[in-house]
Amino acid sequence: MINKQEKKFENFRKDMVEKQIIARGINDQLVINAMNKVPRHLFVSEVFTASAYGDFPLPIGEEQTISQPYIIAEMTQALELKGNERVLEIGTGSGYQAAILAEIVFKVYTIERNNTLFMKTRKLFDQLKYHNIVTKYSDGTKGWEQEAPFDAIIVTAGGTKIPSPLIDQLAPGGQLVMPVGSDSIQELIKIYKDNDDIKTINLGACRFVKLIGEYGWKE
Ligand code: SAH
Repeated sequence: MINKQEKKFENFRKDMVEKQIIARGINDQLVINAMNKVPRHLFVSEVFTASAYGDFPLPIGEEQTISQPYIIAEMTQALELKGNERVLEIGTGSGYQAAILAEIVFKVYTIERNNTLFMKTRKLFDQLKYHNIVTKYSDGTKGWEQEAPFDAIIVTAGGTKIPSPLIDQLAPGGQLVMPVGSDSIQELIKIYKDNDDIKTINLGACRFVKLIGEYGWKE
């Protein structure tokens, strides 16, 4: 039995997907299904529950933010996922992006450098039974060497360049997306790796919090 409250959020979600995602050109059905399914309101703090499906980013504590739904959809679509991939995410934050990926792919590896967010989100993944998400408390700019290579990599914080360990840990035929630019404005960059050849596509302007670490901004 779906209670009234859940039905309300389900309707908010449908509305979000139609007006913010499909109407703006996202057409990957796997991405659309995932955005229709993941309960975004459970990933934001309680004070923002009512506005969780709005067309904007929201604070998640520790001076970090969960991206606007459209950006999440755009970045996920850019990874061109089919379902059997192992994906690495840098910047777990609220866990929403990882949950979207977990609905689509075989396994998600996600790294967070902030211990408070790391602990809180790991608990949420357990509660929501996302058993195909593995978490790590570490500096994600160095990647996750033991589990590499990854079929796709998504970086959800911005830096001046793509950390070289991440390019090394991307499997041939795989894609990586990351906001690249200054601390105030970035461009969403997608790279496609084909053996030694790397193609770069610019998906447009965006704004993310800083990627902090050895191959990112200094603290
Ligand atoms: N994907 C998240 C977005 C969170 S904001 C979501 O869906 O909610 C970006 C996150 O990146 C923050 O939680 C921040 O602490 C984290 N971060 C910044 N630099 C990092 C690094 N070097 N390694 C891992 N996480 C990092």
